[in-house]
Amino acid sequence: MQASQAAATPVPTPTSTHSSNQSFRHAKRTAKDYIFGKMIGDGCYSTVFLAKDIHTGKEYAIKVCEKSFIIRQQKVQYIKREKDALNLLSNVPHGFVKLYCTFQDEERLYFVLSYAKNSELLKRINEVGSFEINVAKFYAAELLLALEKMHAKRIIHRDLKPENILLDENMHLKIADFGTVKILNNNNIASDVPIPEDEQNSSNDRSRKVSFVGTAQYVSPELLQHRVDTYASDLWALGCIIYQMISGLPPFRGPTDFLTFQKILKLDYEFPEGFPADAKDLVEKLIVLDHNKRLGASDQGGTYESIRNHPFFEGIDWENIWEQTPPKIS
Ligand code: ATP
Repeated sequence: MQASQAAATPVPTPTSTHSSNQSFRHAKRTAKDYIFGKMIGDGCYSTVFLAKDIHTGKEYAIKVCEKSFIIRQQKVQYIKREKDALNLLSNVPHGFVKLYCTFQDEERLYFVLSYAKNSELLKRINEVGSFEINVAKFYAAELLLALEKMHAKRIIHRDLKPENILLDENMHLKIADFGTVKILNNNNIASDVPIPEDEQNSSNDRSRKVSFVGTAQYVSPELLQHRVDTYASDLWALGCIIYQMISGLPPFRGPTDFLTFQKILKLDYEFPEGFPADAKDLVEKLIVLDHNKRLGASDQGGTYESIRNHPFFEGIDWENIWEQTPPKIS
């Protein structure tokens, strides 16, 4: 989650709990169907509130975007793309926050999402410093399965990071924030989000050009250098996240985004002492400059078999992982 630059989003006014269930069932939802509670997150373009459905009592996370801010920031296409991606993933049972419905009023857009009660993976990593290897292995495996499903739907996330990986009430992983996705068509050609004019013309510096998508520490070298992103760009981020779960910090860290980009392009990172050998080998096979040479990049058939079969994942029950009780974070 980046520091919020979004226009302050006032909490939509809580409403009366009086309503007829009968007439409601077929009606389009509005903000009046929810009691808005505490703010549970904010990003560059939205504020997320915990909200209770007044008809069912069920809790949701409602992402609220100020229309005027989205238009001013030329992010309309991003919001549309986010909705498209969430809809494409709506029948995938595990691994993603679910979009229940969207609605709008004069000033705001609302995304009603499943509530991931146990917050961000980043928060959990920071609480304990770093994960035990069995915990890192479990969440890396769930993330890999989610990536398989997402890539099968031709979606590249492009902003995978521990802030965008949430944990539900059972401590299973859910990917969130599809604001920067790329959705490929049947020919694997992207219908990309157009680059805002001010960003196209403002600088010749590559690192500047890509600053509108992704997050410095996890951005792939191909996006930085050639503005190309492939499914393997998410595998690069997977490598960075596995490194971070085990060591506590992302591999590429500079005092500025520009210096972080330089480190990425030079593959300038180190493993802390004691980093387990299997994990190191996997990370080294994912954090590879040439995206075609990353482990999994050539896998066919909808599963990342070469990653699943890596010794780091020994013991993972791929078929039943979502039904298992996750290992306690420590
Ligand atoms: P960014 O600046 O990262 O692009 P954004 O404006 O697109 O952010 P999100 O990343 O989707 O917004 O949401 C901001 C934060 O709100 C998340 O990092 C997370 O902490 C919280 N959040 C979002 N969706 C949910 C959810 N379904 N359940 C619980 N918390 C959520």
